[in-house]
Parts: sequence; structure tokens; C-alpha cells
Amino acid sequence: MAIKEYLIKNDCICGGNLKNNIKLDKQPLINVFKRFKTKKFPTIISQCSRCYLIQLKYSIKDKLIFPKDYSYLSGDSKEKIEDYKDLISKISFKYKQKKK
Ligand SMILES: [Zn+2]
Repeated sequence: MAIKEYLIKNDCICGGNLKNNIKLDKQPLINVFKRFKTKKFPTIISQCSRCYLIQLKYSIKDKLIFPKDYSYLSGDSKEKIEDYKDLISKISFKYKQKKK
């Protein structure tokens, strides 16, 4: 099966033009720890000229990035869950402070 990447020409959020490319050569998919040779994809970081959002210039289908045997789930990490609870607590506190 051929894996295709898709060139993104405009910002996914506001539709502005993408510019300021940083080319990082071709990279394998994240969290692919296979010993055999894997396909690599163009990795170019771009910035939206309108809203300045930073994003990748190439997109790959989700089911290729997150296959059924994908090894990372945020709910698997006790430390991450505790970090998120702490973050929510801090944001809630700040929000309440501003509301008064
Ligand atoms: Zn934008």
C-alpha cells in the first residue's frame, strides 16, 4: 500500500498563506520504532502569514500516524494525568481570579 502525504498550501484555521519554511529533510512517522527501513516523509515547518500559527506543511492520514498498535495513549501515563489535573486547577484558579 502506498502511503501518500498531502501538501497543505493554506493555514488550516484561517486560510492564510504559509511561509517561512524550515526544512527538516524527510523523517519517519513518530513513534515508529521498527528496526527495518521505514518510509520517510517531507517535514517542513511553516508559519501562516495572517495569524502566525506554526504548522507542518505536509499532512498524513490519521490512520497511518495512529495505527491500531500505536504505542502511546495519554491516559496510560499516571504522571501525565496528574500534570493535566494540576494544569486544570491552575487555569481554573486564574479564570476565577479574572472573573471577580
Ligand atoms: Zn492563519
